[in-house]
Amino acid sequence: AFDAVATAVRADLPILRPDGGPPLVYLDSAATSLTPEPVIDAITGYYRDVGASVHRGKHMLSDIASTRFEQVRAQVATEVGGGTRQVAFVPNTTAALNTVAAGLPLDRGDLVLAPLDVHHSNLLPWRARATVRMIPLTPEATPDLGAYAELLRLRPKVVAVSACSNVTGRFAPAEEMARMAHEAGALFVLDAAQSAPHGRIRLAATGADYAAFSAHKMLGPTGIGILYGRLAELAPSVLGGGTVDWVDLAGHRLRDEPHHLEPGTPHVAGVYGLGATLDYLRGLGWDAVAAHDATLTRLLYEEIARRPYLRPLGGPGHRDRAAIASLRLPPGADVDEVARMLSDSYRVMCRSGKLCAQPMVDGDGDGRPVLRISAYVYTTPEELGIAFAALDEVLTVTGVPLG
Ligand code: PMP
Repeated sequence: AFDAVATAVRADLPILRPDGGPPLVYLDSAATSLTPEPVIDAITGYYRDVGASVHRGKHMLSDIASTRFEQVRAQVATEVGGGTRQVAFVPNTTAALNTVAAGLPLDRGDLVLAPLDVHHSNLLPWRARATVRMIPLTPEATPDLGAYAELLRLRPKVVAVSACSNVTGRFAPAEEMARMAHEAGALFVLDAAQSAPHGRIRLAATGADYAAFSAHKMLGPTGIGILYGRLAELAPSVLGGGTVDWVDLAGHRLRDEPHHLEPGTPHVAGVYGLGATLDYLRGLGWDAVAAHDATLTRLLYEEIARRPYLRPLGGPGHRDRAAIASLRLPPGADVDEVARMLSDSYRVMCRSGKLCAQPMVDGDGDGRPVLRISAYVYTTPEELGIAFAALDEVLTVTGVPLG
């Protein structure tokens, strides 16, 4: 069953088709996943057969687009476990989190708590509006719940958390943290960008007041994301067409949620693609996706454990972790150069950098970037083997001792 999932998805990925060269090994899925043919077809099908915008008129093509647009919203609502009025289409997770931070009534003096591992997209929007205090991490790089309990006594307005770290792959105890936030009278905002792709898409069940994810990390198109939550309570920060149902010379009346948060012509093709994405993942089965992920995570951390010269952020251990690993390379290795050589000489695509989580990456290192390997539902054990063998060779030929 493990290989069946990957085999099925790989058959649908045009980019992996043999082209006479060495196989392409794509291990940057935490940044953006590959796109299967049914999703590509849904996107091009919209442009080919429909083309019109949504909610903008009475003609047939606009009706077709609007009907599908709202069907996909209902599909998302079912997946997250909420209602359609709790689901807004936004460009990506970053836009969703900015919409929440800008839409809540916050003052500079208000306190927001966020664990040290949050992505910049779940830190900077809060820092622009309020005062942020970081929740420290345990040695395994999950939020330290004791320290969190102490910080909650300061009466924060908001707690903003990553459900899964894009650096370490560790899942945070989101439900418990939400419950603790609510007991302290704070709103709980969950960045689900890395957890939703790995089968943890039941956002309502986490107790989060707001949550966000991006289609492009779960086989879907770029440019479309989901903001889930108590949308009626958010003031729109971008106004214009689509957000209002009455305008006269004296003022305007906002549309009901979620439409007041969907300004301008939306990414209709992206929504078509997202609908196909959710159908596709459901076809694979969320449990199968999560099980595949758990096996890959184990194999990934076994490869790392065999190499004492690699230090994964967040420590070893594969349990309750997505198939993401960020590696400190031995001293002397130029991490960006290693990533370039893996790509150009071995066709192994992985990420080097601070991973948009610089406070965490710099807080646990020497100022150098890390090398991130991240797998998804189409990744095979053979690909992990190829990548680590290539990494060993690159380090060796660049003169980095592996001893
Ligand atoms: N949060 C996390 C945890 C992420 O990994 C990412 C993507 N790198 C984002 C937020 C931002 O997602 P997007 O670029 O789609 O806005």
